[in-house]
Amino acid sequence: MQTLFWILTLSLLCAASQAAAPIAAGGRAKCEIVTQPGSTPAERHAADELAATLKQVTGATFQVVESGTTPRGPAIIVGPGPVAKALFPEVNLQSFAGEQLTMRAKGSHLLLAGGRPRGTLYAVYRFLQEQCGVRWWTPWASTVPHKQDLSIAELAVDEKPAFESRDPYWYPAFNPDWAVRNGSNSQSAHLDAVHGGSILYHGFVHTFYPLVPPEKYASVHPEWYALVKGKRVFENAQLCTTNPELRDFLVERIREEIKANPDASIFSLSQNDCFNPCECENCKAIDDREGSHSGSMLALVNYVAERIGKEFPNVAIDTLAYQYTRKAPKTIKPLPNVIVRLCSIECNFAAPLDDPSNKSFADDIRDWNRLSKRLYIWDYTTNFAHYVQPHPNWFVLGKNLQFFHDHGARGVFEQGAYQSSGSEMSELRAWVLARLLWNPDQDESKLIREFLDGYYGKAGQPIWDYMTLMSGKAKGVTMGCYSPPTAPFLDFDTLTKSEKLWQNAEDAVKSQPDLLWRVRQGHLPVRYVFLTRWPQLRRDCLRSKSAWPLPTSRKAVADEWLSTATGPGPAGWTPMTHLSEGGLTPQSFVSRFAVDEPDPVPLPERTAKHAVPVGIPGANAATCVDVQDDQANLYREGELSEIRADPSASDGLAIWMPGNHHEWAIQFPLSKLPERVRSGKWRVYAFVRIIKNAGAGGSPGSAAFTAGIYDSGATTGRSQISVPVKDVSSEYRPYLLGTVETNDSQYVWIAPAANSSVQSVWVDRVYFVPVN
Ligand SMILES: [Zn+2]
Repeated sequence: MQTLFWILTLSLLCAASQAAAPIAAGGRAKCEIVTQPGSTPAERHAADELAATLKQVTGATFQVVESGTTPRGPAIIVGPGPVAKALFPEVNLQSFAGEQLTMRAKGSHLLLAGGRPRGTLYAVYRFLQEQCGVRWWTPWASTVPHKQDLSIAELAVDEKPAFESRDPYWYPAFNPDWAVRNGSNSQSAHLDAVHGGSILYHGFVHTFYPLVPPEKYASVHPEWYALVKGKRVFENAQLCTTNPELRDFLVERIREEIKANPDASIFSLSQNDCFNPCECENCKAIDDREGSHSGSMLALVNYVAERIGKEFPNVAIDTLAYQYTRKAPKTIKPLPNVIVRLCSIECNFAAPLDDPSNKSFADDIRDWNRLSKRLYIWDYTTNFAHYVQPHPNWFVLGKNLQFFHDHGARGVFEQGAYQSSGSEMSELRAWVLARLLWNPDQDESKLIREFLDGYYGKAGQPIWDYMTLMSGKAKGVTMGCYSPPTAPFLDFDTLTKSEKLWQNAEDAVKSQPDLLWRVRQGHLPVRYVFLTRWPQLRRDCLRSKSAWPLPTSRKAVADEWLSTATGPGPAGWTPMTHLSEGGLTPQSFVSRFAVDEPDPVPLPERTAKHAVPVGIPGANAATCVDVQDDQANLYREGELSEIRADPSASDGLAIWMPGNHHEWAIQFPLSKLPERVRSGKWRVYAFVRIIKNAGAGGSPGSAAFTAGIYDSGATTGRSQISVPVKDVSSEYRPYLLGTVETNDSQYVWIAPAANSSVQSVWVDRVYFVPVN
């Protein structure tokens, strides 16, 4: 809805014959750098950065002088002030927005200036980047071209970033110098006044309980908390957003916070990171009328924002459109001082957001754009369960930022792996996202290629080949932001080709230690999958009679992996500490591989034709769907689950699990199964047999295994069974897990019950029978 003007190139004339502002010749400075009275710390820093970087480019030393009068010789004027006004009267810097910039060359003068607080910094960095070819890839790696002779032809570029809030939230992007040079204004980069500052939040997200702590208020005001299934709930739930006293309390609470945090401009009033909204009569009435729980949420946020806005006109109140509030209300509009952050967490990140698989999100953003004046996006660009695993979303990052921009987004938080170095392609993602957040109308493939060649040198080509191979394999796959190591694009053949490409990449730069270190960091993700799924990949290798692309000792591969991940490295880099958002450390990951185990026994060929099962009403080959064990995602394969030969299984193979754990180690995501079982109503059976421990005691009523259907979109179970020892057999039996309306986000799971009398749980297949 808002038309965001962001780039206006008036003219850019680079012909050699044009009059040109001289900067350096023969490695000597041909101009001085001028700051003006009244310049800010950021503007003085911009001048110093310009002098220091131009010295690296030309070899010349540049004087930075402060002056209020027109310089006699050639000069670069940095920032707004009397000199800028006298030499460039056609530019009205007073009217520039805070991040708007201009780069102008006229005669022997160059003006690099912008609005406050950050426009002048951005003018200098854009100039160094666009006119001089400087690139700041990471805090530890830059490219600075060397040109002893430098002059700038007539130039008149006015620019403004596409988004007002630009947060490439990846660990390498938190360095303040890197951030400001690449146009990020993330608060996570800790940008002080010298670096131009940033947009500061107070209480970034999920602030319901922090604002109204249950331990303080639940006993005195139970009615402030969500009514769920008839009871007031004080944990893992929300607030009663229509309670009048609570609303006034929140106005006061936020007013206090604003006074205590004068530098912050955005204050969060947002739902907890769970479901369970209030179902009281008043909350429900709004939600029913508005067709979404965002109705009662927004009614509260508007109430607070209206009262806050009168006293603090420059402050915005931020809330989420997330999970149960993602769908926009029918009629309630966020007030102009309300920021709604729409979250893409349920999306398929292997495909762009305008892909049919992401239709419901696209519908929601259109609705929010229609209602909102200040729409922000919280996007997910990593795999939170496996930071270090290949996550081929690279070639949709730019398309998605264009999509956000086209749908009125004014800020984007690109949540990535934020807890440590070493996450998959983190350096590339931080840089590409920062560039695209400045201007999403660029070709992401070109940016990616530029980064690969610039940062990895000659290794750029094989790494590019790896990325195109992996993202090609992910086409058509639904890839969430918690994708397992068994994702379909991580098959043995693709991993082997990938491993070889990374070996080629290492080889291409083997005589350049700096580049070799970078490539070896980038190589970690492919080996992470090999380590994680070693027994299965070994088996696939033996079965296909292929060559194994790694050393045959898993321990040797793991030891090398750990030493690469944990250092040493260049200044500005820190060793990997997190392999997942949950906090798995590299040391604890690798400790699982301390002992090399013998190769798995080769499995027999799978029997192609499976008999229609007996004992299930309505079973037939025409309308039912038979799902074999090879469609399952296995957790901690070789340890907690494994495919083994089983002559009594319908195809000669089954999944084995030891009886002593209770992990949902077998999961059949419906998104991997034939299209027709992903909708409609089905009876779902699992064929399971149990081997008991000889002579073990244990109660016949205790569970031998549990199983069910879970909906990860709705984060709720659809059905679950717990089967006691007395009801199991050493021969396969069908167990009805439930009768469910199916969808793409569900999966069937089966788990042992950590029962000492159970030796092993075997699963032959899952069988879907349609319900008419
Ligand atoms: Zn309520």
